[in-house]
Amino acid sequence: MHRQVHHSFSIKKFTLTAVSLPIMIDNPSNNLPEGLFKVLFEKSPGSILVKADPPRFTILAVSDAYLEITSVNREDILGKGFFEVFPDTNDDPDDANTARKVFTKVIETNEKIDVPVYRYDLFDPKTKSRNPHYWSCSNTPIFDANNNVAYILNTVVDISGEVKAKEVAIESENRLLLAADATGLAIWDLDIPEIRFTYSPQLTGIFGHPVETNLTLGEISGQVYPEDMQNIVRKAYFESLVSGYFGYEVRIFWPDRSLHWVRVMGKILFNPKKEPVRMLGTLVDITESKRDEIRKNDFIAMASHELKTPLTSLKAYIQLLAAKLAGSSDPFIGNALSKANNQVNKMTALIHSFLDLSKLEPGKLQLKRQVFDINKLIEETVAESRVLSNTHIIRFVPGKVMNVNADREKISQVIGNFISNGIKYSYKGSTITIHTDALDDSIQVAVKDEGIGIKLKDHEKIFQRFYRADEDDIKNISGFGIGLYLSSEIIQRHKGKVWVKSAEGKGSTFYFSLPLS
Ligand code: ADP
Repeated sequence: MHRQVHHSFSIKKFTLTAVSLPIMIDNPSNNLPEGLFKVLFEKSPGSILVKADPPRFTILAVSDAYLEITSVNREDILGKGFFEVFPDTNDDPDDANTARKVFTKVIETNEKIDVPVYRYDLFDPKTKSRNPHYWSCSNTPIFDANNNVAYILNTVVDISGEVKAKEVAIESENRLLLAADATGLAIWDLDIPEIRFTYSPQLTGIFGHPVETNLTLGEISGQVYPEDMQNIVRKAYFESLVSGYFGYEVRIFWPDRSLHWVRVMGKILFNPKKEPVRMLGTLVDITESKRDEIRKNDFIAMASHELKTPLTSLKAYIQLLAAKLAGSSDPFIGNALSKANNQVNKMTALIHSFLDLSKLEPGKLQLKRQVFDINKLIEETVAESRVLSNTHIIRFVPGKVMNVNADREKISQVIGNFISNGIKYSYKGSTITIHTDALDDSIQVAVKDEGIGIKLKDHEKIFQRFYRADEDDIKNISGFGIGLYLSSEIIQRHKGKVWVKSAEGKGSTFYFSLPLS
């Protein structure tokens, strides 16, 4: 039997066709010896040659690789029918890619047929069970002199690894989508050069559309509040460049014109030339928590407002009393009234900062711009600060005359805040120095102290609302973590910048800049 099979495995038979092996015909010097040809075939990647004798499909030759992956021996299979060795037991009748159907089709059509992926489980002698296996194969017809298919060369590649990897990827993607669905998170991805935007179905719901709606990037951006849209573009780019990630809250309008809030988080991927190529992330509806926050802010605003009236009258009474008792022989009275007055001033300042905080709600903080000389403003603010505190030396080193177009009162508030922080977080008797500088297109103000300094990890955080450095040094320094937040919001609304340079124990310098145009 073997002999017979080996005999039919001859060059003569392979050279029958000009279609499958034309080189052998065209070039007579290519008369490879039969033995060498056999070796070549047997060393080729997973190949099996069957005779086109349906329904048997007798196995004529097989490569070592094929034997290896199918765990059979050459002697056991040569001369046997293909389906005796590899039974088509669990074949799905609707599957057009079963080996039997494909072999039959090759004979019918005279054409090579590729099957990119199919499953054929292999028996594992160790576990005595069939293990799932995936294959990719091609089935090449080899013709006889009459141009009929005489043989079929079936070459297979085991792609179980790739299929498994894909399955794992799909599974993890499904898990991610499921988790996203359960938490109402939408996932989005923007290919920047191609301007191709893809997103998970949750996104349409978050933007107030039925799930099946197809939204373009233009339609989605059109629903974002224009001011917030500018923020997205600017912040996302810079934050991604600096920290790799970005995150911000934006207001959107639903098609029914109702206002909603979403939180967008993600990152931008850059090419080696630092050009943005891809932007991807998540998006979640935060309308409820935002409304809650707005209610809290309204409450603070209302409470502060209500507190202002009794405080104003308290201050008036203290001043009246002070006037009445001026020149009193009891030194305690004057001293007590002055302390009471100071405490009332402190409380007034605090209440004002709470009120300012609530005014930061979008659209509520209106800038009253005017052109003024920043050096003059600083002189005034420094004079006020000297009156409020005589524990420190406050020095002002003005640059040349600098006119800016800004909200004078609010800028004064920022400078006052930097100075009072400098005083608060440094030692009695130390110096606070204020510098102004004219740059090409902006002015820059710096307030330097010789105080406790700020750890690098806090440099960005201290500008966040209610954030206070978690240091023992400041445990007994009162504050609410509002001042720097307010200052940075005020400067940002002027399209300026706020930043700090500081090291622990080495003092701090707070800067802001305002554009000149
Ligand atoms: P508050 O001073 O009321 O806590 P701020 O918003 O003004 O609020 O400041 C936030 C935090 O920044 C402070 O709690 C403090 O930790 C830190 N900080 C601000 N200014 C200085 C400074 N000049 N030196 C050291 N730390 C400072």
